[in-house]
Amino acid sequence: MRLDKRADDQLRPIKIQLNVIKQALGSCYFEMGKTRVIAATYGPQEVHPKHIEESDKCILMCNYNMLPFSVDGNRKKPGYDRRSVEISKVVREALEPAVFTEEYPRCAINIDMQIIQADAGTRVAAINATSLCLCCAGIAMRDIVVSVAVGRANKKILVDLTKQEEDADDAIDMPIAIMPREKKITLLQMDGIASIDEIKEIINKSFIACDELSKIHRAVLNKNISNI
Ligand code: ADP
Repeated sequence: MRLDKRADDQLRPIKIQLNVIKQALGSCYFEMGKTRVIAATYGPQEVHPKHIEESDKCILMCNYNMLPFSVDGNRKKPGYDRRSVEISKVVREALEPAVFTEEYPRCAINIDMQIIQADAGTRVAAINATSLCLCCAGIAMRDIVVSVAVGRANKKILVDLTKQEEDADDAIDMPIAIMPREKKITLLQMDGIASIDEIKEIINKSFIACDELSKIHRAVLNKNISNI
């Protein structure tokens, strides 16, 4: 039994609310346990600066940010840093294969993600929120993208690690994003040392957890379809 009483393969409780920002074309509040993110999308719209526009497709402009009060302990310095630039890139690359970018040449789709509360897995929560946002905004997509971090802590393979679990001495953490219909991986990252068997087990458990997540995403989207 884990400290929060979950089984090893169990996701944290998930809460999703769509269209929470009136001004945005699509928006989503996504909660995975104590990790909370809000994402909003604008566009397709004109690209700024103009010279980065692409003649045959749109560009996804993703901005990930952690709010100063989102972390435990000391307040985080406000604004963007190296980590937020890396995660913005990772989120964009995880989402791009699912979007029919060729439908929106010379345009930008802007996606802003604000981490309200962080307890590990903020990049995977941001990917889930962003995929739901794009669906809300009616952006043409070939599939949704679902994401989870599976890893090892205290010699066990655990689904959807908390920060406390991630801080274990032997911890490894493998965020993954999947297009569930095509069963294709769009993001796979890992820090630390793991055996091939552990990696296989982590990937298998990630697919099972993502399957569950995709059912949750689809149920929420179906329920809200009249608002989309
Ligand atoms: P992810 O949030 O995707 O797991 P990291 O592995 O970089 O990404 O971060 C793990 C966790 O560490 C975060 O979810 C957050 O709880 C914590 N964390 C990250 N950056 C900071 C920071 N600047 N101050 C305090 N805690 C942080």
